[in-house]
Amino acid sequence: MIDIGANLLNRQFRSDRAEVLDRAWAAGLTHLIVTATNPEEAAAASALCVAGDNLSCTAGVHPHHAGEVHEAGGDWLGEIRALAASERVCAIGEAGLDFHRKFSPHEAQRAVFAAQAELAAELRLPLFVHDRDSQGGVYDILIGLADDLTGVVIHCFTGSERDLFRYLDVGFLIGVTGWVCDRRRGETLRQLVPQIPLDRLLIETDAPFLLPHGSASPSAHRRRNEPCLLPFIAKFIAQLRGLPTAEIAARTTANAQRLFRLP
Ligand SMILES: [Zn+2]
Repeated sequence: MIDIGANLLNRQFRSDRAEVLDRAWAAGLTHLIVTATNPEEAAAASALCVAGDNLSCTAGVHPHHAGEVHEAGGDWLGEIRALAASERVCAIGEAGLDFHRKFSPHEAQRAVFAAQAELAAELRLPLFVHDRDSQGGVYDILIGLADDLTGVVIHCFTGSERDLFRYLDVGFLIGVTGWVCDRRRGETLRQLVPQIPLDRLLIETDAPFLLPHGSASPSAHRRRNEPCLLPFIAKFIAQLRGLPTAEIAARTTANAQRLFRLP
């Protein structure tokens, strides 16, 4: 199984990252993509990945950081472009729009996201997308580039049925996290997950966030999510779809290998 989104550079993993990775491999994960949310983190993620055979990372600016890079006025896009030359960087991102938590002005978010989408198309790299309550804003930016992008995953999908089918219609893949296990917030997603074609489905933990409801964190950090809980999410999805967990694991692994060109 491949966790396509783990925020291993998050400070919550600072003291025990090696143990977290050991637990992930012991749980049956074969590869893990470290999510980067700004240029400094992408540089650190790329360095971390060189130290481990089964690690890749993204390089990009999360919408929460769009305001600061936009206002700073430096060559943040040039930094991302340089980092993307590393063979351990397998995607541009995470990038997108987040109108739920307003950490960045909407206009800065749109500008920073559009620039990264264009960079992904130019570099022929997949785009790792964050869309939270963008009300079609992410779609509107990507639709103009859909023919030029080599691959897109809408990570941690939490949208509506209309959002889902618009993304599927243009060939994007859908990342599902432990959000699907949440009794209240996950209800819409639970109805939509069986409608995602098996060749478009990816699984991810988004650790340390989104500890799956009903699972137990394996360390003393009791509310922290970890990549080793990915099989819990796979099993949950398998039950929703009435399929063996092994089939969900095999299909999502193949999808991740294809999209991100992983070994
Ligand atoms: Zn995200």
